Amino acid sequence: MSYKEPAPIKNQENPFESMMSRFDEAARILGLDQNIYNVLKYPAKAVIVSLPVIMDDGTVQVFEGYRVVHSQAMGPSKGGIRYSMDVHLDEVKALAAWMTWKCAVVGIPYGGGKGGIKCDPRKMSKGELERLTRAFTGAMRDVFGEEKDIPAPDMNTGPQEMAWLMDEYSKINGQNSPAVTTGKPLVLGGSLGRVEATGRGVMVSCRAALGKLGINPMEATCAVQGFGNVGSISARLIRMQGLKIVAISDISGGYYDPNGIDIEAAIEYRNNNNGTLEGYPAERITNEEILTLDVDVLVPAAMEDQITKHNAHLVKAKLIVEGANGPTSASADLILHENNVMVVPDILANAGGVTVSYFEWVQNRLGYYWTEERVHRRADRTMKLAFESVYAASQKYNVSMRIAAYIVAIDKVAKALAFRGTF
Ligand code: NAD
Repeated sequence: MSYKEPAPIKNQENPFESMMSRFDEAARILGLDQNIYNVLKYPAKAVIVSLPVIMDDGTVQVFEGYRVVHSQAMGPSKGGIRYSMDVHLDEVKALAAWMTWKCAVVGIPYGGGKGGIKCDPRKMSKGELERLTRAFTGAMRDVFGEEKDIPAPDMNTGPQEMAWLMDEYSKINGQNSPAVTTGKPLVLGGSLGRVEATGRGVMVSCRAALGKLGINPMEATCAVQGFGNVGSISARLIRMQGLKIVAISDISGGYYDPNGIDIEAAIEYRNNNNGTLEGYPAERITNEEILTLDVDVLVPAAMEDQITKHNAHLVKAKLIVEGANGPTSASADLILHENNVMVVPDILANAGGVTVSYFEWVQNRLGYYWTEERVHRRADRTMKLAFESVYAASQKYNVSMRIAAYIVAIDKVAKALAFRGTF
């Protein structure tokens, strides 16, 4: 019989409300001008479109698509497009704001946006998905643009959807426009290094934070929750810094070995096992237990809402590096801060992905493509500089790294708005 995860404790906090509460706190500490606060609280634009698509059986189904531009104060808005039945306008608005802060914190010249289509992609054929993506692109032709709003993959979308989007947009405009989206396949102008980018940024943040905490990586232990793109690559690269990864987990549960998990073997196991770690030979633990192991570093890299007021006081790690978006609730933040746990927040720690998306856009516009080594070097530098600026703000204002990240981000966007004088 296969192992069953106990039901997780349901957290009542909504990750987006958590995000907004941090925005409020950072705005208060920064003494943000009330007018600018009011502007940043609301998205600049929210577009809803109806997308008629001819299905394979000849019927026409109408899907609802959204694109929200939160802010373009720093540059064209940037953010993914998700395909899911759960997509709704309020969530897309919150995710768009999140992108504004994430881009600002790492200092890339973008605003924030997000989009989605309410659909169940698992029930759709490739042809239906292609027609849906093309219909969405056509409907958003005046929203998207390489100097206006640049989509990217998100939940249930990937290089194929971005290729269709880029192709449709190019046809509508009568010219090849690879920079209208990022996350494209390599042959269509995708960037080398994109696949590893988020995990690599997590590793760079982890290494920088260990330095501040005076922890020797060669003597440190680490647990990684989630073993997909972000989790497995973070684990591999953190291991290469000398840390011992004693636990990993995925949807099938957790795997613990106090002598250290062989990450390369675990990746190979997962790749040959339908993408899951189910049956991996190590002591079984739960996804709840992995969060409270006696380790130096914890990397939540699975999903939102994992460290909450119910378990934050049980966390023993001295450092949390957020690979996932929104894994820690606002009330858990307070507990972790009181317990001297350093949290490198999502908008900083996992911004390596959007940083390399920016490099993809730069390369598309240059028509000149960088080596993987150059992409890594520039992304590492961007992440390191962003970490240092957030750390400096945390010292200056005597706040957590999360609030400091929001302070750094909001300060930049507020200054841009004030100089532009757009209201
Ligand atoms: P993924 O789909 O590649 O991997 C997700 C992993 O989490 C899988 O191993 C899955 O088994 C596991 N998982 C799913 N449900 C789980 C559960 N209930 N408990 C434990 N594990 C569970 O996704 P990803 O791209 O690695 O993204 C992971 C997180 O990182 C998400 O929050 C995502 O928004 C965030 N993120 C990803 C990127 C990126 O570039 N991929 C960038 C920024 C943020």
